[in-house]
Amino acid sequence: MNMSGGRERLVVIGGDAAGMSAASQARRLRGPDELEIVAFERGHFTSYSACGIPYWVGGDVGERDDLIARSPEEHRTRAIDLRMRTEVTEIDVAGKRVRARDVDSGAESWTSYDKLVIGTGARPIRPDMPGADAPGVHGVQTLDDGQALLDTLARTRGRRAVVVGAGYIGVEMAEALINRGYEVTVVNRGSEPMSTLDPDMGRLVHKAMEGLGITMVNDAAVTKVLTGQDGRVRAVATEDAEYPADVVILGIGVRPETGLARAAGLPVGGHGGLLTDLAMRVRGHEDIWAGGDCVEVLNLVSGQEQYIPLGTHANKHGQVIGTNVGGGYATFPGVVGTAVSKVCDLEIARTGLREKDALRVGLQFETVTIESTSRAGYYPGASPMTVKMLAERRTGRLLGVQIVGREGAGKRVDIAAVALTANMTAEQMTALDLGYAPPFSPVWDPVLVAARKAAAKVRAF
Ligand SMILES: Cc1cc2nc3c(=O)[nH]c(=O)nc-3n(C[C@H](O)[C@H](O)[C@H](O)COP(=O)(O)OP(=O)(O)OC[C@H]3O[C@@H](n4cnc5c(N)ncnc54)[C@H](O)[C@@H]3O)c2cc1C
Repeated sequence: MNMSGGRERLVVIGGDAAGMSAASQARRLRGPDELEIVAFERGHFTSYSACGIPYWVGGDVGERDDLIARSPEEHRTRAIDLRMRTEVTEIDVAGKRVRARDVDSGAESWTSYDKLVIGTGARPIRPDMPGADAPGVHGVQTLDDGQALLDTLARTRGRRAVVVGAGYIGVEMAEALINRGYEVTVVNRGSEPMSTLDPDMGRLVHKAMEGLGITMVNDAAVTKVLTGQDGRVRAVATEDAEYPADVVILGIGVRPETGLARAAGLPVGGHGGLLTDLAMRVRGHEDIWAGGDCVEVLNLVSGQEQYIPLGTHANKHGQVIGTNVGGGYATFPGVVGTAVSKVCDLEIARTGLREKDALRVGLQFETVTIESTSRAGYYPGASPMTVKMLAERRTGRLLGVQIVGREGAGKRVDIAAVALTANMTAEQMTALDLGYAPPFSPVWDPVLVAARKAAAKVRAF
């Protein structure tokens, strides 16, 4: 009950992973007689998986609606008053109310809250350069973006695609377009693709992408998008060259969508994300919570705040927020920086710190890189795998792992994620009782081989 004796009102801004997980969990814990839930979403969809867009575009997933976990109607049947196509334009913290605008009619109104959840997500970075908005240039942030891209692909006769950016979204989109029969060029500002890996591991991804027929252009910043007489994209230009394109995909990262929160005076960190406490409550604000791509997270290995916009965190944040708003107690302690992705049959995974992260926080460490196989060498289908491990000098504490390989490589990183969470040393990891049979791994799992070598190397200090 609120102070006036009526039922409390929870207002949620943002209808995707963080916002609707929070709303759904709060509803599980408190019925409509106790808690009214009003959620605002400015787009057309709720609880959708942007993570699935590359696989939908590439044809692995058949229908757009397969990516929607819960529609607005389904949320409404759970007594959540969901206001679609309605954008929150102001948060009045002192007055405990939000101003919202109907995107179609422009009509505005205020809604008061007892508790507020901010789940506004992230905004894709759009390069400030000529031609960036030309027809044929696409982002892939939302389901609408995915549909617009598919419409363009269906209309376009040419088969040349340029992907700008070689982070995980860029490489996943390169795969999607290869699967659709396009000639794909990836233009990347960094020295190697996948800057979430160390460059030596990124180099393996680079080589494998070339092996798949993808043209990789590294150390190249796109300066403009060139258009033809019809106004459509015809090429992407860097300072040194032009790359002909019938379609261009932008995958150059996102920033936290925190304009509203900043204007309301809520605290943001050095990476531009909202700052929260362990319960995901916005610091210094008893009745306001935030989660997902609009917040910074604590990296448990470096001890520093970081911006890691991933759906896996957004869903957990929402669950924690909903539990707390619903009268329970839950915390989100932080992350170890685990991520996995793939390009065709090449699996790419990382957790913990890269070399440059460890150096930045002043850690002294050793690295080892080993080659092994996904299965016993004699078992059919065994494929090569490279594992890189960082461990702290003297203590031997595990600091990070990166893995590049084929089937069975990517999810092996979870062993290291658990070890990092448990603050294990490389030596302790060597004794882990992992499952073994020839079809699943060599008798010494590749991660354990790396741990054994890392343990030996740090013992020297
Ligand atoms: C192509 C792609 C692939 C991805 N793959 C993976 C993956 O494999 N693994 C992984 O962990 N993550 C992945 N992600 C990231 C993941 O999708 C996001 O981390 C996740 O969607 C974040 O959820 P969120 O609820 O915080 O934000 P969002 O999903 O961005 O949702 C925020 C919502 O808030 C709405 N909104 C914003 N401001 C307002 C306002 N003022 N008023 C009303 N509504 C508002 C927006 O319209 C949006 O619907 C991928 C993302 C993309 C784009």
